[in-house]
Order: sequence, then structure tokens, then C-alpha cells
Amino acid sequence: MTKLNEEMDVKKIENIVKSTIEKNAKMENKNTNPGYVITQTRPSIEIYEQSVKKIVLLKDIKQLLKLHKAYYKGYKNSRGLIGATASIAWLPIRDKTYELIAYREEKKWGTDRIIDDKSVKRIDKQCPSTFDNYDYKNKHNRITPNSPCPILYGLRGDDVEELKKAFYIVKSEPVHSWIIFETNQGTDDHLQKKKISEIKPYQSIIAEGIVIKNPYTIKGGHVIFTIGNDSTGKIDCVAYEPTKQFRNIIRELFVGDLVEVYGSVREKPLAINIEKINIKNLIAMVEKLENPVCPICGKHMKSKGKNQGYKCILCKIKSKKVVERKKVRNLIIGFYEVPVCARRHLSKPLKRF
Ligand code: ZN
Repeated sequence: MTKLNEEMDVKKIENIVKSTIEKNAKMENKNTNPGYVITQTRPSIEIYEQSVKKIVLLKDIKQLLKLHKAYYKGYKNSRGLIGATASIAWLPIRDKTYELIAYREEKKWGTDRIIDDKSVKRIDKQCPSTFDNYDYKNKHNRITPNSPCPILYGLRGDDVEELKKAFYIVKSEPVHSWIIFETNQGTDDHLQKKKISEIKPYQSIIAEGIVIKNPYTIKGGHVIFTIGNDSTGKIDCVAYEPTKQFRNIIRELFVGDLVEVYGSVREKPLAINIEKINIKNLIAMVEKLENPVCPICGKHMKSKGKNQGYKCILCKIKSKKVVERKKVRNLIIGFYEVPVCARRHLSKPLKRF
């Protein structure tokens, strides 16, 4: 093919992409900022890594696209260009999953989706390599999107054949068409191990620390605790209200426990939004059962006041040692994750570990 022919073909493709976006994108929505990139050379995978883990500047992306002699256009704030470039740069070297996307008939776009929840639950049983289908505790069907987009549902999983099987299990309104994508969903690709002192806003991190402030619940139902490490500082960790039952796990943590927290970092106030937690060690907790017993008369001693110890009124013997009992911890060590309904797309479900 001559260079000229090639250019004409790319132009043709660009015209199709352009008119499709301009006809269908909901530009009036503030979160709709599309962009397209057509290039014959793949940008370095580092661009992908940067995009999912750090902050990428639009001007750097545009510069890169010029270097690649790409055909591209960003609409509105043009952030779609970053996603488009990062997608092209991605290579499934470390991990990957698949998503079968089923599309709706055009006349149904914007109307309520008709999908039988029972059939979605059946996928969980019959197709074990699929994930994030249904949230049983919160009765939430996770395969359908919330937006008025043309997608009817998306089935995520590790096995292409099983996704096709799942497709025939789902009972729904008529499917216009479907396609299977290779994706980075459920891979934890966004996470990087960090020391607490190195953590910066907008990163997604894995950090280990000891609980140095007990969990407490603030207005709105969010649960906060602090982790620290003698040498490397401290940071707050938050389980937000939408993480529902996950907060009950977090509330059981106690000063001294060793945890590894997975999540994204918000700026103000600086805190980790927890997606997963690996509870590595639980300290032995003791609780006071009763006042010390006098070794002479066998009666319980009386308290002499706060932090003053105890004394037997009859024998005048003093003691500071109360009768303790090991407290039962309502937690066991191991991984815990937010429920399916609160899971971010990139977050790796425990069933994939
Ligand atoms: Zn006594």
C-alpha cells in the first residue's frame, strides 16, 4: 500500500469515529468528555502505567500524540484523550480479564433495562470464573450500567468460553449485538506499594502499618482509623458509607493490629479510601474482669481511685493487678474487600487472588 492510500484509509476511519461520537455522545453531561486517538504506532506502556497510577497532564499526552503522528481529537475538557491514549498503550503483560458487552436495540436507549436478576445469580453458580455479577447482601445487579448508554450489560470474567456460556444464561430484553473485550478490570493495575511517608494525593496504593488510632464513625456513617509506622509517619484510612457491611470489619480493628491497606488517596483531608484490607496480625486484647483478690482474706480489694491501684480494706494489702481475661476478637486475619456494589472497576476481587 502506498503512503497516500494508507492516509486515505485512516482518514476514512477517522470520519466514521468522529461522526459516531458527535452523533451519540451526551455532550450536555458534565462527565462526558470524549476523545479519540488513531495511531499506527503504539505509545509506550509507561503511559498506561502513569495514567492508572499517577497524574498525567493533557499537554504531555497531546505532545506524545503529535510525536506518534496520531489522528486525534478531544471534546470539551479533552480528558477522553488521556483514556484513549492509555488504552492503546496498555499491554496485558501482568494480568488481564475479559468483558462481554451486550448492547441494546437503539429504540430502547435511555429506557429502563429489562434483565432478570435470577438469571444473573445463576451465572455465579454456573460460571465460577466470572466476577462482580451480583451483590447478594445489597441486592444489587452489578452487570448493568446506571447511565442511559447503549450498553445493556457487561459480564466480567477470566475465561472467554465461560463468558459466552454466561451470555446464554442471562435472560433480558433483546440483545442487539455483543463483543468480548480484553480488559484491565479487576487487576489492581492501579495500585503501587508505598511506605506511609511516601503516600501522595491521587495515588492508588498498598501500604502496611499498625493501627495507631481506633476506628470511629463520623457523620454520614464513614468509618475512620489511623495507621502508622514508627519511622515513616501516619495516615488516616476511611471506609466510606457506600462500602456498607465492610465497615463492620473495620470497626473491629484495634490499636496495635497490623494491616495492609489497598486503596486510593484523597487530598483533603489526606486519607486512604479503602478498597481492600489484609489484616495481618491481631493483638491480644484483654479486658478487666474484676478487682484483684486479697491473698489473705480472699475478698475483692477496693479501688483507691483512678490509676491508684487497689487495697484490701481489712488486711491493708495493696495491688495493681486486676483479674483479666483475654478478649475474644470478632475478626480473623486475612483479606477483606468492599462489597460488589462498591467495587471500583480496576479493583481486583478476592476471588481472583
Ligand atoms: Zn484481705
